Amino acid sequence: MAKVPELFGSMVFNDQMMLERLPKATYKALKKTIQNGEPLDESVANVVASAMKDWAIEKGCTHYTHWFQPMTGITAEKHDSFITPNGDGQVIMEFSGKELVKGEPDASSFPSGGIRATFEARGYTTWDPTSYAFAKDGTLYIPTAFCSYTGEVLDKKTPLLRSMERISTEACKVLNLLGKTDVTRVTTTVGPEQEYFLIDKDVYDQRKDLIYTGRTLFGAKAPKGQELDDHYFGAIKTRVASFMADLDNELWKLGILAKTKHNEVAPSQHELAPIFTTTNIATDHNELTMEVMKKIAEKHGLVCLLHEKPFAGVNGSGKHNNWSISTNTGENLLDPGKTPENNIQFQLFLAAIVKAVHEYQDLLRISVASAGNDHRLGANEAPPAIISMYLGDDLGALVDSIINGTEYVSKGKIKMSTGVDVLPDFKKDTSDRNRTSPFAFTGNKFEFRALGSALNIACPNIMLNTMVAEELSEFYDELKDASDLDAAVKALIKKTFTEHQAIIFNGNNYAPEWVEEAEKRGLLNLKSLPDAVEHYIDQKNIDLFTKNKIYSVDEIHARYEIELENYAKIINIEALTMIDMAKKDMIPAVTSYVRELTDTALAKKALSDAIPTSVEEDLITSLSNKLVCFSKKTAELENAVIGASEYEGDVLAYAKYYRESVFSVMTELRAIGDAMETETAADYWPYPSYGEMLYGV
Ligand code: ADP
Ligand code: MG
Repeated sequence: MAKVPELFGSMVFNDQMMLERLPKATYKALKKTIQNGEPLDESVANVVASAMKDWAIEKGCTHYTHWFQPMTGITAEKHDSFITPNGDGQVIMEFSGKELVKGEPDASSFPSGGIRATFEARGYTTWDPTSYAFAKDGTLYIPTAFCSYTGEVLDKKTPLLRSMERISTEACKVLNLLGKTDVTRVTTTVGPEQEYFLIDKDVYDQRKDLIYTGRTLFGAKAPKGQELDDHYFGAIKTRVASFMADLDNELWKLGILAKTKHNEVAPSQHELAPIFTTTNIATDHNELTMEVMKKIAEKHGLVCLLHEKPFAGVNGSGKHNNWSISTNTGENLLDPGKTPENNIQFQLFLAAIVKAVHEYQDLLRISVASAGNDHRLGANEAPPAIISMYLGDDLGALVDSIINGTEYVSKGKIKMSTGVDVLPDFKKDTSDRNRTSPFAFTGNKFEFRALGSALNIACPNIMLNTMVAEELSEFYDELKDASDLDAAVKALIKKTFTEHQAIIFNGNNYAPEWVEEAEKRGLLNLKSLPDAVEHYIDQKNIDLFTKNKIYSVDEIHARYEIELENYAKIINIEALTMIDMAKKDMIPAVTSYVRELTDTALAKKALSDAIPTSVEEDLITSLSNKLVCFSKKTAELENAVIGASEYEGDVLAYAKYYRESVFSVMTELRAIGDAMETETAADYWPYPSYGEMLYGV
């Protein structure tokens, strides 16, 4: 097997490949485009395309695809071969600059929230040269952005690139004002930690709910869950270890910096964390990682579940979005340094983030809203639906001292003694890890922890970049004409911390008292997707996006509609799946079992009145009663689904109806179904049990 450094990036047309294979002038022109966003000449594009194609053919490719991230939440691709007839019945392999730069997928079936209906039916994809092309399964993948013909954004990448541009511009202005004139570009960086479940493919194939919805809609708890905490960081089973090794290899080939792997809290749950990189690439890489995970799992006879809550009763899966800002001069702007009390620049950026999170808490909540993630937020396994931020004892004390004008005493790094001579003493990290906060400062970055595992990380990062850019721009306007800049900056920091301290919370976010306290502080508690997404179109949010040119008013409305509609569709599919399972499998299964019990009881009685039949009779009675309730509830759910059509004209009411009137009945139906499962003989139950799913690998 190839050594890792040779393997790494071997399927990527990266900078080194460009340097090797492009004429110098072409390489320089392309670099300019990548670094400064300058448009690319067609003649240059032709040369790049040809070199890319030759490289791709060497890697076994016959096709190319424009790879994009429409608003479905997954990536999209359409493969075209390189073949071109040469006139005498033969073909040659060709790829032009035009084909590299622009594609025209049939866009009519992608969600657009009504945008395309009112404008143009077509859409096009454009090459994003800031994310490298790569070869995978015989196809050259070209990362692209997706727009309508009239320029409306139809994807997640375009607004992400725009938001990165915005924060760069505004951060540079502030830094230049503070005297850092050599800073010309600022980049946000992200390292997303990805959680997932692995279960046996044979078991998966027997569960309609997993197949149709990605989560179990029924299923009584196994006798053992996660209460022993014996899975977290536990030894990795052979089959899982070989999956992980294979996965690392595939990811490394694609230039993805897969770094850490371990078992997570729930049985069968695992995590993969990459080393951070620029936000745009981190997003592409996270999408690829999820896709490759699924594929490699299949090779191992496994299924990778990325749903946020595949199993009730054990933890679901999330994604931690580690986010920071750094300059082209190599400085991490969120690094407080040794003496944060004297680091005015750090304080100013921190103040901008505190203000941003406070003013746009709704947008952060919206950015992580999904039908799947609704099961996690606030369920004591993930941060609550209330957005707040954790700064840790040290920074918290610093902010307090700034607000109160008192002296700041650093708690410093407490030396911890391990008490064992052979182990070196280590310094306790001053930003102690608060695992319950949705938005925690972790030394030199913020960790946004409310993301669901299946989410495309573009949206939360669009929000973060844009809202911080907005605050920095306001700061700049306030400071630019100051006669005493130093005093003005200090006053601004103090004012900002004072006005926005309500968003800072260093305590336990899982505690019920926090819900009350947060309400007193006026923080939002948006419990479900419809509750959250409702605020997408609040005037202040529309102002933010339009002023910063991330979305037009139409584009925001489109996203609002897509989110709500998609939510309703997901709940609808889940409800229909439950009805199908109930009627086709569960009711017949319990009926058969009751029949067997009845036959047994009757047979016993026929033999002799002296043989007790109370066990059978009790079970027959209990299951028959449940069966009546279950069947009634199924009918109720069917009616609830039919009732939704009344709300179709109003997308918000429609989504809320699904939450309040369909989802609630599903929960009740599940409870009865699960109770029947516990009383029915395993041989009769139509589905693999929780035990078989969670402990079957
Ligand atoms: P944890 O204990 O939460 O797993 P780590 O320090 O191991 O924390 O980092 C978790 C993630 O944060 C990794 O993906 C890492 O690459 C990422 N990370 C570290 N520094 C930065 C940074 N400056 N910007 C963005 N992400 C970062
Ligand atoms: Mg983690």
